[in-house]
Amino acid sequence: MKVLVTGGAGYIGTHTLVELIAAGHEVVVYDNFCNSSPKAIGRVEELVGQEVPVVRGDIRDRACLDRAFAEHSAEAVIHFAGLKAVGESYRQPLSYYDNNVTGTQRLLEAMEDAGVRTIVFSSSATVYGEDAPVPYVESMGRGRPSNPYGGTKAVVEQMIEDLVRADDRWSASLLRYFNPIGAHPSGRIGEDPQGVPNNLMPFLTQVAVGRLPELSIFGDDYLTRDGTCERDYLHVVDLALGHLKALEAKSAPGVAAFNLGTGKGTSVLEMVATFESVTGQQIPYCIAPRRAGDLPASWADASKARLELGWSAEKTLEDMMRDSWRWQSANPEGYGG
Ligand code: NAD
Ligand code: UDP
Repeated sequence: MKVLVTGGAGYIGTHTLVELIAAGHEVVVYDNFCNSSPKAIGRVEELVGQEVPVVRGDIRDRACLDRAFAEHSAEAVIHFAGLKAVGESYRQPLSYYDNNVTGTQRLLEAMEDAGVRTIVFSSSATVYGEDAPVPYVESMGRGRPSNPYGGTKAVVEQMIEDLVRADDRWSASLLRYFNPIGAHPSGRIGEDPQGVPNNLMPFLTQVAVGRLPELSIFGDDYLTRDGTCERDYLHVVDLALGHLKALEAKSAPGVAAFNLGTGKGTSVLEMVATFESVTGQQIPYCIAPRRAGDLPASWADASKARLELGWSAEKTLEDMMRDSWRWQSANPEGYGG
């Protein structure tokens, strides 16, 4: 199948390109590189041993999207492109709605006009909202998102559901990711956040490599096993493989949401301890105040993806730590090094 991959130069996109090509699919990347580097595509090309076509463009640019569909005759879209920093989304909500919601609307319009009606969308566990009990299960429906970023994901899910219900030629998978970490086992591609990382794993590896002095653990007084927050961390290669399963299952019309997680919560302190034991690196840390908007615990009920897509996360927390560290230690400055 020929797949247009929006945001294909980003963290999850690059890992998905590798798995798509390995499975025999053809790809074309559509990315404006606002949060990624063309070097990442070069690394993917090196890993797969072939050229990866790229359209440099914005998903809000209809003319550019139309040209991409006309020139590349894609049969399906995997849609990663979007802004994802929760903290920034509080400060710039309109920019988040413009990129993520208006951008997706433009993309869906261009797909409709090009007759491409299969989409796999990067959603998030945040759509369950701040009051949902763990584990999150798809039958719960969406809750009240705890931040504007989550709000954009909920609106896009609703937009796609409305579109599919109006026209049964469409088929859509809404993939609700939990916490992707890790990197390709080669150490050639991985997560390369701009500036000081917001997320735990890149922060932790940047402390280990000496780019940052210490980790601040946001709160140790939650009602959890050890007082620190629990999350469902999954390996980015497992996550990438989930997209293949969703794409291959989507020959039938309709819309369905799937949790992509391991089904297991791990606390921040357990993350630090596992990283230290796997890599032998010590992580200096301090306990800091809670971070606004953090939920005590979030993990998936991952049985729907297992039963309906034949997907489950295979890699262990130790694999995630080893691969994150291989990437960070071999590329201390990310793609900029
Ligand atoms: P990323 O920032 O590494 O990748 C996103 C890519 O989209 C980047 O290459 C960026 O340049 C591109 N992009 C952004 N806005 C664009 C636009 N308007 N037009 C064209 N390209 C644009 O992020 P990621 O971690 O790979 O995440 C991919 C998707 O998965 C995002 O939609 C994100 O919200 C979602 N998601 C990520 C996580 C996570 O923890 N990483 C969790 C849940 C959901
Ligand atoms: N976290 C932390 N220090 C950091 C970054 C994150 O203690 O520098 C904690 C955060 O409070 C949360 C967990 O690590 O409990 C995962 O945070 P991340 O931002 O990676 O993911 P999300 O909040 O989206 O689940």
